[in-house]
Amino acid sequence: MIEQTLILIKPDGVQKQLIGEIIRRFEKSNLKICALKMIWPDRELAEKHYPLDEEWARLLLEKAKKAAEIENRQLGYSDHLEFGKNIQEKLVKYLTESPVIAIAIKGPNAVSCVREIIGLTEPFRAHPETIRGKFAPEESYKIAEEENRSLRNLLHASDSIENAEREIFMWFQKHEIHEY
Ligand code: ADP
Ligand code: MG
Repeated sequence: MIEQTLILIKPDGVQKQLIGEIIRRFEKSNLKICALKMIWPDRELAEKHYPLDEEWARLLLEKAKKAAEIENRQLGYSDHLEFGKNIQEKLVKYLTESPVIAIAIKGPNAVSCVREIIGLTEPFRAHPETIRGKFAPEESYKIAEEENRSLRNLLHASDSIENAEREIFMWFQKHEIHEY
């Protein structure tokens, strides 16, 4: 199915001068870039992009718990909403730190294809051929927690067709998305 999805090259990706490398990866796939811009998000846009969604918070805690268990660490949270709120605050700080690159991309199964190209949320566990695995291999939940900050994993990509639709129109106006 032809889908559209939203990618953000987060502040660390732009700061590390990885814009070209990252865009190249998407151009090499059979997906088509249909919108692209640099934007410095304010707090309002960052919060809108990462709303405190109950299901998202549940998954967020699940992923962090799993990693902590493997590493024999204690995670100081059991309530997913409390955990989600804590991470959301760190994400807003991260996303508003410097400009990001917003990209809308289109193609067959774009949502899952893009998630595959970028790799797992935790770069430390992401496959080395993925963007996160190749360009941020040391970055882990553990380090982020120790430094009391968000995980810096270079990119955001929508996780479902519904979220992609919502997110694309948060970053782009209709006339900025091109058909060609
Ligand atoms: P993804 O970006 O792979 O869709 P999530 O939706 O689970 O990942 O989380 C959104 C973002 O929140 C992540 O990309 C990361 O920057 C940050 N994040 C997620 N979990 C944690 C955590 N346990 N500690 C710090 N930051 C986190
Ligand atoms: Mg996500």
